[in-house]
Amino acid sequence: MTDLKPCPICGKPADPTERPFCSRRCRLVDLNRWMTGAYAVPVIEDDDDADWETIHDGEDKS
Ligand SMILES: [Zn+2]
Repeated sequence: MTDLKPCPICGKPADPTERPFCSRRCRLVDLNRWMTGAYAVPVIEDDDDADWETIHDGEDKS
């Protein structure tokens, strides 16, 4: 199982747990590209990473 593509962000070998990126950091970089692009709210799969909750908390119903 060594046919992982290189990280699209930095070109390093991808990590099987973070694919297609090499690390969580590069994943965030990719996410940031989406957020700064046409898509204000990216569709993210439920991850066990609690950091995403801050992003989902964008609906301000007051
Ligand atoms: Zn990377």
